[in-house]
Formats: sequence, C-alpha cells, structure tokens
Amino acid sequence: MMDRHDTGHSPENQRALPGKMPIQPDSDSLMISFLLTLNILAPFLEYPPDALIVIDSAGTIILVNTQMETLFGYDHDELIGRPVDLLLPEHLRTAHVAHWTHYMQAPRARPMGIGLDLVGQRKDGSRFFVEISLRPIRIEHTLHVIGAIRDMTAQREAERERMLISRRLRQQDKLLSMSHDAILVRDSADHIVSWNEGAEHLYGWTEEEAVGNITHTLLQARFPISREAVDYTLEQHGQWEGELTHTCQDGRQVIVESRQALVRDEQGFPAAILEINRDVTERRRLERLEREARAEIDARLHVLQVILDHLPSSVFLVQGPQLRILLANQAATEIWGAPWSRGQPEEEFIQQHGASLYTPTGQPLPLEDMTGRRAMDSGKPVLNCQLVIRQSDGASIPVIVDAIPLEHRSLLPSLPQEMTLGPASAERVVLVVYRNVRALKEAEELKDQFISLATHELRTPVTIIAGYADRLLSRAAQEKGHALDEWQREKVQQMKHASWHLANLTGELLDVTRMQAGQFQLERRPTDLVALTRQEIERLQATTDKHQLAFHTTVAQLWALVDAFRIEQILSNLLSNAIKYSPGGGLIEVTLEEHKDTHEAHFRIRDQGMGIPHAQQAHLFGRFVRGENVRIAGIRGTGLGLYLCRELIERHGGHISFESEEGVGSTFFFSLPCTEAVYRNSSGKAL
Ligand code: ADP
Repeated sequence: MMDRHDTGHSPENQRALPGKMPIQPDSDSLMISFLLTLNILAPFLEYPPDALIVIDSAGTIILVNTQMETLFGYDHDELIGRPVDLLLPEHLRTAHVAHWTHYMQAPRARPMGIGLDLVGQRKDGSRFFVEISLRPIRIEHTLHVIGAIRDMTAQREAERERMLISRRLRQQDKLLSMSHDAILVRDSADHIVSWNEGAEHLYGWTEEEAVGNITHTLLQARFPISREAVDYTLEQHGQWEGELTHTCQDGRQVIVESRQALVRDEQGFPAAILEINRDVTERRRLERLEREARAEIDARLHVLQVILDHLPSSVFLVQGPQLRILLANQAATEIWGAPWSRGQPEEEFIQQHGASLYTPTGQPLPLEDMTGRRAMDSGKPVLNCQLVIRQSDGASIPVIVDAIPLEHRSLLPSLPQEMTLGPASAERVVLVVYRNVRALKEAEELKDQFISLATHELRTPVTIIAGYADRLLSRAAQEKGHALDEWQREKVQQMKHASWHLANLTGELLDVTRMQAGQFQLERRPTDLVALTRQEIERLQATTDKHQLAFHTTVAQLWALVDAFRIEQILSNLLSNAIKYSPGGGLIEVTLEEHKDTHEAHFRIRDQGMGIPHAQQAHLFGRFVRGENVRIAGIRGTGLGLYLCRELIERHGGHISFESEEGVGSTFFFSLPCTEAVYRNSSGKAL
C-alpha cells in the first residue's frame, strides 16, 4: 500500500479542494495538475444515482460523492485519505487486501467479487449487501480505480422473498401432486390446464391426455343442479361446493365431493377455475348400506314394539347394573300407572312415579331384592316371583315376575346404537316380565272362599260321624247294648278311620284358606320343645311296626314361645310323611339341637325312604304339589302338608328346607326362634 504522504492525498489536502479540494500554491506542477483534475472530476461524480468512490492504486480513498457519504454514514472528510477497507467489516479486510492487489495487477472494468456476497459496513457498524463495479481510470497518468457501489439490501430482500416463494410453490406443487384428491385447473373456457396425480389416479387419464379437454365433457359430469346454476354461483360468489357424478376412463362412475373456486385476472375477468374433487363413492355406498340396515332394524324393532304392545304382560328390557330401560311395552305403562322413558333406571322409574313393590304378605320389597336386579346380579333366571305393585293412586296389582338374562353380546349389535346404553359389550341385558295376576287371584280367592265354606260345612257332620263311630266301637268293646259281630266292627272301624281322615283333610283345607285370607292367628305360649317332640314321636311310633323312630337331643328341655298345637301339627306332618314315603319301613331319626348363638332350635328329620324327584324339588312347598314318584306308587295325599308346615314355621319366624335323593331318602330341616326370655325360663328363672 502506498504511503499516504507520497500521494499527497492527506485529509488536510482534500478538505482544501475547491468545493471539495483546495489547490496548494506551493505544490509542484504535477500535483497541481492532479488536484485540478480531481476538482474538475468531483462535480461529475454527483450525477449518477450510485455511490461513487475514487481510490488510488494503494487503496486510499481520494474522492467520494454525496451518495457515498449518505450510504456509509461518514462525512466527506472522514473518508478522504482513508484506506478503502474502512468500508468493510473487520473480518473481510485481510482478504480484501489480497483481492485488491490481484485486481491492480490487471485492472479492467468489471464487477467486483462475482459470485460473492459483498458486504459494506457503515460508520455505525451496521452492515449491508453491496454490489460494486470497478473501472480503472488514469488521473494525470496515475492509475486509479473508480468504484460504483450500490446498496443491494432491497434487492437481496426481494431475492430472498422470491426464493422463499418459489420454494413454497415447489412444495405446494409437490403437495398437490401427492394429494389423494383430484386437483385440476380449467381455464375460463373450461379447458383443463392442470391435472394432478390424484386426478390421474381417480379418473384414469394422464395429465397429457387430460389437458386441453373440456372438463365436463371428458368426465361426463352430472350435476345436482343445472350446470348454469353452478356457473352462476361461481360467478357470483367465487366458489361452489357440491356433489358430482363423474365417469372415469374405464367407464366406472364415481361420486365426488367437489369444491370449485373462481380465480380472476388483474382486470377482474375470470381466468381459471380451481377444482378439488374428493372421491366419496365408497363412503356414500357404506352410508347407503348403513341407512338400509338401519331402516331394516327400525322396521324390525317397530314390529317387535307392536307385538310387545299387544302382549298383556308388562315387558321391560333393562341393561347394566342400574337396570336402565332399553325397551318396554304398553302394558308396562299400565301396570306401573306411568309412562316409561328409555335410559331411565328401572328402580328410579318406579320411585319417581310413586309406585312400590310388596311381598304377598305385605312386606315392602327392598330394591336389591327386585327380580330384575337379582337376575342382573346373578346372571341366572329368576322365575315366578309373586309380588304386589302398589301404584301411586293406591291401587294394588298382584303380579308374577320373571327375569331372564339374555345373551347380550349377540342381542346388542342388532339394536340401534342410541338404544343401547353405556359400554354395551360389557353390560348384561335382562328381560323382565310382570304378569298381572289380579284376575287369577280373584278367581283363587273365590275358590278359597268356596273351599272354606264347603270344608266348614263338611267338618261338623264329619266330626259327628267320626265321634259316633268311635263311641259305637268303645261301647261295643265295653259290652254295653247290642254286641257287634266281627263284620260290623270291621265296617265301623273303617267308617271311623275314613271320617277321621276326612276331618284331617277338612282341617288342613280350612287352615290353608284362612292363611290365604289373612285370618290365621298363632296362639303362642312357652313350650318345652323337647317334651313336645318326644310325645309326638311316641304317638306316631304307635302307628307303625315297620319303622323305628329315634330321637337324638343333647338338651333336657328347650323352651320356646310357640303355638304348641301348630308345632305338633308340623312334627306330625313331617313324621307321618317320613313314615308314609318309606313304604319299606326303616329308621327315622329326629334330632333337636339348641343353637345358643342364634337363639334357635334346630330340628332334623331323616328317613331312608323314596326320596323326592329332582323335578319337583323347587316347588315342593307350593300348594297341591306332590312328587311324581309317590303318585306313581299310588300313595295318597293332598300336597298341602308341606305348604302348611312352611307357612306355620315362617309365621313363627323360622325357616324350613330339605335335602333329598330319589331312592336314598330325605332329610327335612327346620328352625324355630327361642326368645331370651324363654331361655331364662328354661334355666329355672322367672319370666
Ligand atoms: P302329601 O304328603 O299329602 O302329598 P305334603 O305337602 O306333606 O303332601 O308333601 C308333598 C309331597 O312331598 C308328597 O306328596 C311327597 O311327594 C313329597 N314328600 C314329602 N315328604 C317326603 C318324604 N319324607 N319322602 C319322600 N317324599 C316326600
């Protein structure tokens, strides 16, 4: 780099130039001439719009124009005489020296740093992109370089913007071609001008085949409304959406969801229409199938509902632990005295409408004992539950309830979705049927009244006949009056037997009808169950030689507050059954135990007789129920004894059950409560 003093371009000199640079009177003539030239040159530099700089061969600034000062933010004097790399960022200065030296070896007019991002640095340190053109110039036989510097910030920004846009366009183009939708562009005369891969895939024509064709003709488009109406909407609103039917190259018809947008040119004339067509053929087909399937299910359900509504019984289909109602019929509304609504829990429905459920003996039925709930919880059918529905207006309806769990996994899918509630696959569905048995009950009551009346009327004469037969036999035995011959005694004996049998039967019938009518009372008094049982066993042992009746007990006395006559009746019934249904004879064991923890007396009567067929076991405590085997064997009976036993035991607060195997024997168990007061009495203390 040249010494600054050698050039004579010291800042002091330049500041003195006329207008820019004053002439030094004591300079040699060369220098004067040089400075004069510079002075002449300086005004010309102001004309071009670019920032101009004149540099000597050593890289020292000797002349700048105002644009240059403005561009770099320096005052004129701050630039003149300074090395040009002042205008460069620090880190580029070393490289610049090399470039400058290289240039000065073969100076020519050319842009500087082709292919490089040239950066200038302002006085305030800010940097900006520049474009520099260099041109060698001889000033007074000395080689100088004139540089035109242009601020490229705006251009660079625009370039960057352009690059971004073109990148974005390339990406969009890629996206368009990747789209599964058919995307096409048509000009204002409906000629296809663009056709993406999605369109090729959907319709079958390649871009080359499609471009230039009239869209609607190529695709044989069928419009939901007239084509004119579509064009009108596009014209008016700039867009249209709707469903079209198109025909593909292979003749296949497809339904597309089409979105179209009108693009206008700068003058506002229609230039192109962008069209995106989505193939919805499969979706529409599935929707149609679903609609048809649903219509079919609805039709079936309608038929089912009509059938259900014509059934006399109240039918509920309930789902899940809350027993939410899926379906019910007309009779359900009538039996509960309120309309049902889908989704409502059955228990809530009952409570909401002021209805309630009772057992046949008038006890309120706890909700957890409801038939539907029991079937839901256990997964097993609960059948023939006798209950009474009490409606909000006080009306009572006797019902028999059956609850049957259904195979919900196969049932639920056939129901419309909004009908099934909750996690359908997991929840059980139960069919609950309430049969109104009021008419039956009334008929039964009538029958009971008749039986009661008839047995009552029969009882007195039968007892009289039995009594006279008894007296006749005993007087004859005492040889009072006429003696009876053998034949007469035998017949009177049979009369006595038959009439006592009849008296027992009428007694049982009367008890049953009284119980049914709620006119039955127990007469409780402290009773020693041990003594009573022993006495009953002895009485029945006297009636048979074939059977051995054994009594086992660990207690000497066991006191209970019971109706002694009825306990005798229970024991008599169970023991005579054990005798009657063990026709081959055998051991009959009676056990009586005291359960102090529960304050109960536990009886067990075991025989080795015919046993009870499995099919009759579930109903054995019902009225008139008899084992099939005893009928076949021709053993007479009424089927009322066990019914009475159960009623009597339960009215005492006890419980009866049995175990039996046909051909092996039966064991009947029953319990009776012994109150604490009676216990104290049995231990000898006062009540
Ligand atoms: P009945 O004995 O008059 O038929 P019950 O009500 O006492 O009426 O008994 C009902 C039925 O129960 C009987 O008919 C019989 O089939 C069966 N049964 C009762 N006890 C026994 C028993 N100990 N062994 C076998 N079957 C019995």
